[in-house]
Amino acid sequence: MTGWIFDIKHFAVHDGEGIRTTVFFKGCPLRCVWCHNPEGLTRKKQLSFFLVKCIVCGTCIKQCPVGAISSPGQINRSICTNCGRCVDVCPASALAEQGYSVTEDELFIKVTEEKDFYDDGGGVTFSGGECLLQAEFCAKMLKRLKKAGINTAVDTCGLVEQKAFEAVLPFTDTFLYDLKAIDPEVHKRCTGADNALILNNLTYLNNVGANLEVVIPLVKGYNLDEWVNMLVFLKSLDRVKTVKLLKYHGFYFSKYEALGWKAPPADMSAPTEKEFNDIKESFTAEGFIVKT
Ligand code: SF4
Ligand code: SF4
Repeated sequence: MTGWIFDIKHFAVHDGEGIRTTVFFKGCPLRCVWCHNPEGLTRKKQLSFFLVKCIVCGTCIKQCPVGAISSPGQINRSICTNCGRCVDVCPASALAEQGYSVTEDELFIKVTEEKDFYDDGGGVTFSGGECLLQAEFCAKMLKRLKKAGINTAVDTCGLVEQKAFEAVLPFTDTFLYDLKAIDPEVHKRCTGADNALILNNLTYLNNVGANLEVVIPLVKGYNLDEWVNMLVFLKSLDRVKTVKLLKYHGFYFSKYEALGWKAPPADMSAPTEKEFNDIKESFTAEGFIVKT
């Protein structure tokens, strides 16, 4: 069996406890307006072009078998077949393929390379995109990692069938569960999708005793006012002791440009320090352990 991923981050420190290796699976059912990993949204392979790296040598133009590159960075994506030839010949790594398949053995070898660094509580995190769109593959890998004594975490947006959670539950030490809004209309505006299934799955994980850390992005202009609703909802879940508050930042726009996509809307911003600290204090006052 193979998985479909777009990146593996080694020595990650923001994707769960300790030093971790994070695997980014490709494909996501949500379209969050602030998505920081646009290369993980679709299941298909994509070509990225990074202008700052290009040395304008023109090698890619000559190598493209379908004439999709008219000049450096000018890619006709409607005829590009994602063959990868331009990526292979680019001397400056200005072109990159987003998306590749891995077998269970290949991935196991890659994520266990740093096993010696996992002693501090670290381990392996499956993220994305949405890793649980590939739940069967994830379950097999997580089972294998647990058998090898490695701590496992699943970072999920929650919009998958409950059976996906059932498949990975026995082999997952921690779920990093994204929560963006309780109000369905706000959620739809932020992500393009309804949140009923997301809330149901979070409640399910709580009720079966899963170890949960809820991750809340705070984006002014979109979901900032939802923090009270989220606090009230999370108080009703007895297994949720830890929340991670993420302040919006816009350091990812170049990824959209590299994919040839239009940039996200400009009406997003980070909460002020005061707003962020007030929210943090409110969660702390209600007994939550708050990570930032
Ligand atoms: S991936 Fe292949 S088809 Fe697409 S631009 Fe590069 S060489 Fe051309
Ligand atoms: S091969 Fe690479 S460096 Fe040369 S023009 Fe193409 S993208 Fe730029």
